Amino acid sequence: MSRQEISRRVDGIRIPLGAGPDALDRAVFALYGSRTAYHVLRRSVDARVKTRICFVYSVGTGLAPVPVGLSPLLADAPSFALRAVGGDPLVRPVVVGTGPAGMFAGLSLAMAGRRPILLEQGKDVDTRAQDVARFFAGGSLDPTSNVQFGEGGAGTFSDGKLTTGIRDPRVAAVLQELVLAGAPDEILWSSRPHVGTDRLHGVVRNIRRKIEALGGEYRFGHRFCGAGLEAERLRTVRVQLTDSGSEYEMECRQLVLAVGHSARQTLRLLAELGFAMEPKPFSVGVRIEHPQRWIDQAQYGSAAGHPDLPPAEYKLSCHLASGRSVYTFCMCPGGVVVAASSTPDGIVTNGMSSFLRDGPNANSALLVAVTSADYPDGSAMGGIAYQEKIERDAWRLAGGSHLAPSVRAGVMLGHSSAAPHETPVQRPEPSYRPGVVAIAPDTYLPGYVVDAMREALPLFGRKIRGFDHPDALLTGPETRSSSPVRLLRGADGQASVSGVYPCGEGAGYAGGIVSSAVDGIRTVQAMLHENI
Ligand SMILES: Cc1cc2nc3c(=O)[nH]c(=O)nc-3n(C[C@H](O)[C@H](O)[C@H](O)COP(=O)(O)OP(=O)(O)OC[C@H]3O[C@@H](n4cnc5c(N)ncnc54)[C@H](O)[C@@H]3O)c2cc1C
Repeated sequence: MSRQEISRRVDGIRIPLGAGPDALDRAVFALYGSRTAYHVLRRSVDARVKTRICFVYSVGTGLAPVPVGLSPLLADAPSFALRAVGGDPLVRPVVVGTGPAGMFAGLSLAMAGRRPILLEQGKDVDTRAQDVARFFAGGSLDPTSNVQFGEGGAGTFSDGKLTTGIRDPRVAAVLQELVLAGAPDEILWSSRPHVGTDRLHGVVRNIRRKIEALGGEYRFGHRFCGAGLEAERLRTVRVQLTDSGSEYEMECRQLVLAVGHSARQTLRLLAELGFAMEPKPFSVGVRIEHPQRWIDQAQYGSAAGHPDLPPAEYKLSCHLASGRSVYTFCMCPGGVVVAASSTPDGIVTNGMSSFLRDGPNANSALLVAVTSADYPDGSAMGGIAYQEKIERDAWRLAGGSHLAPSVRAGVMLGHSSAAPHETPVQRPEPSYRPGVVAIAPDTYLPGYVVDAMREALPLFGRKIRGFDHPDALLTGPETRSSSPVRLLRGADGQASVSGVYPCGEGAGYAGGIVSSAVDGIRTVQAMLHENI
């Protein structure tokens, strides 16, 4: 580490709420006995004792380290030029999908001098944003340009939460690359980092520009639709232009498949091509929505609403006697419930927030774990068929529109009486656009799923006061919590067809923005050492 290296790190500096903007400076001064240059390494909120809520800091002396991103990880990549033997220009690697896994695989390949071609069936982020806004406003769904598909992938219209359960040195590199691309610095030290959909669009665009500046190439509206194999080895890929339907073929030796959890057409194609895959457990349920104030009050007590405090979050789970697990997922403070469909005849919900998370409602997925035993058949595609039935039933019940089924929790719990939480004006109003229709979850979700949610809600209500309030909103279905399929790959990252590298959420090896990005990098690191 350079002069900017941290000469001393101090953890556990507690700054009480309302201590003032220079409280940390004063604390550091007291610690070092002099005015010292320092930077924040980590900040979290400790609200366990509601009468003594405080921020907990770790600081390092000296200048803040300059984000370096992926470069150190790719420093040992074998140089491209050396690999061109006999004068044959090496065939450029192809990346399918520009979600977090595809973007970071593409960036890693570009930084290693491989000049990748990135195929995205959807559109660039700006055009996509217009398509999504038109759909939220009641317009028709574009099956290739929506909340699931397009530049940036599924996570672009999201809260952009960057929390992850994986412990991997690549996580720091991913966060730094996001900062280099315009994400807020605080994601490097916040214990609950998030970007917000409003900032993510710019980040995604800047990563594209970096890849292009390094010789990479994006092709929007280009869908991977076939592969030419020779002796179980990839030789060519087939690509369809989504607007005209015309196709072309190109030579390909190394293909990264980062297609995401909603690429059903592509997964079915891969099954037909004989790629080894298996069903994977995932979860279904609804989005539950409360006034953010209720969550703030439950988590912060009388300090709720304090200007220094971020909107409160929660994470709940329980394991029922029935053997089912119920948990909350992808919580969006101050956010909205979004129409995350990618098929014209199916309804799917998810959540999104802006960086400021300043909307009136809080929402999260209320999910029940399901396994291949629940699927219509045990085949690798069984989970997709399971999802499709739920989504289509909801769409049919909603009159063949993209209005989402939504009811108050009291309807599912069978009672509408509860101690008034707040004055009636505080009832949450549904945030889902283009709109909702009063349809109960037990009409489109399997009975065991609804029973499990009904049993879990009061348990969660004991942990978060008001969570099970009959005025809470249940909007669904939430079916795309993760991929129901795993594309099998070996230790070298290759699928059952050599030269093909499945990665990210769609391949069943990651869940969430950061772990998908990490999987994209990991896959390229394996590729760079393959003898092609
Ligand atoms: C609304 C929403 C909110 C979310 N919020 C968060 C959050 O706050 N934090 C978090 O960590 N995770 C969140 N997630 C999950 C996260 O977005 C995913 O885990 C992540 O995007 C997976 O990355 P990926 O690159 O594997 O796939 P994806 O992001 O799904 O990207 C796959 C891309 O591949 C393209 N594609 C598919 N097939 C083809 C083909 N044949 N040819 C060309 N292109 C193709 C698709 O169009 C898509 O753009 C959210 C997801 C949604 C939908």
